[in-house]
Amino acid sequence: MNAEKIRGLKAERDRTQVELRRLRAYLEDEVERVIDGGEDSVDAASDIYEREKTLAIIRTLENKLLAVEHALQVAYKGSYGICEVCHLPIDPARLEAVPATTTCIKCQEKLERSQRRRLPTAFSVREDE
Ligand SMILES: [Zn+2]
Repeated sequence: MNAEKIRGLKAERDRTQVELRRLRAYLEDEVERVIDGGEDSVDAASDIYEREKTLAIIRTLENKLLAVEHALQVAYKGSYGICEVCHLPIDPARLEAVPATTTCIKCQEKLERSQRRRLPTAFSVREDE
């Protein structure tokens, strides 16, 4: 059971890394194109929008990668599926939906609430403008 989870998490990590490399390469190409002056002003606005979107996806994937790597560490220790905060078993349906999770839904919600108070994200800053 645990070995199977580790295999699944490793596959997820590899997929996420491949996708991150692809998106970073895409962004680098885009930046080079702008530096070369190969962009006219009509395209610029939609290109900026596309780049922002790509950056947001990269950030999401980076967070996911961290979560998957952390879940792998937990799985190696043999405590996969146990909430790290309250030490109760995590709902199997939640694990199925979010394999990289290491907290139960209640603790996750508490964590997210306290993180939102402490660290405004780039998105919430933008909403305030
Ligand atoms: Zn919990």
